[in-house]
Amino acid sequence: MALFSKKDKYIRINPNRSVREKPQAKPEVPDELFSQCPGCKHTIYQKDLGSERICPYCSYTFRISAQERLALTIDMGTFKELFTGIESKDPLHFPGYQKKLATMREKTGLDEAVVTGTAFIKGQTVALGIMDSNFIMASMGTVVGEKITRLFEYATVEKLPVVLFTASGGARMQEGIMSLMQMAKISAAVKRHSNAGLFYLTILTDPTTGGVTASFAMEGDVILAEPQSLVGFAGRRVIENTVRENLPEDFQKAEFLLEHGFVDAIVKRRDLPDTIASLVRLHGGGPR
Ligand SMILES: [Zn+2]
Repeated sequence: MALFSKKDKYIRINPNRSVREKPQAKPEVPDELFSQCPGCKHTIYQKDLGSERICPYCSYTFRISAQERLALTIDMGTFKELFTGIESKDPLHFPGYQKKLATMREKTGLDEAVVTGTAFIKGQTVALGIMDSNFIMASMGTVVGEKITRLFEYATVEKLPVVLFTASGGARMQEGIMSLMQMAKISAAVKRHSNAGLFYLTILTDPTTGGVTASFAMEGDVILAEPQSLVGFAGRRVIENTVRENLPEDFQKAEFLLEHGFVDAIVKRRDLPDTIASLVRLHGGGPR
């Protein structure tokens, strides 16, 4: 008979003494305690990632939420949120979409995939937009389109520069063509802001793809990117199957884009607030 059979209520530690066995329970390791680095595959204790969420082994830049981005970027306590409470009308009556939106709102604490408002960054006033890939992969539906359009319109009236952190899986399929028209709608608002002589800065974060890349993400006067971010339009496999060629390993990485002139600079997360503030200041700041 096995000495440590699971069924035994008592186990013998000292032959002269019996100890009541603790109830069998699976050791609980909260998911949020460890992360596997997508860059180097190391398992990392969450605390070691720090508030910037950078891999200590390979400097991989983890994806962060809009709230984390705000905390890392703006002068504390200066964010004024704008354009909240706008909801999708579910124009296609897409099965399960309303429920998915409700779940996402609860899970992320956001009302949609972009947060918009005004803030100070190292003393510079900006109109700020932050897309959050935790919300349906920051796909661009009618609400995302509307909030970003309103941000540009507000910035045009208030003579503010726009700073936009992009992240997106592309257009939101649950809203079909209504999603795609957001590309044109936002681009028109970007153009009016530009015609007013105002500055627009985009920071491409991992991942920025699809219709967002094909429109406002690439319309910035200056385009920055975080290290190793995936930036592209169609996915690698789609392109490889279309052109019938193997693509380079780093294809669609920010570094590849920098080399080919699509991005102006790659900036480490910790250097972003200073870089953003300098660029805004150089372009006249706001408001004047
Ligand atoms: Zn790593």
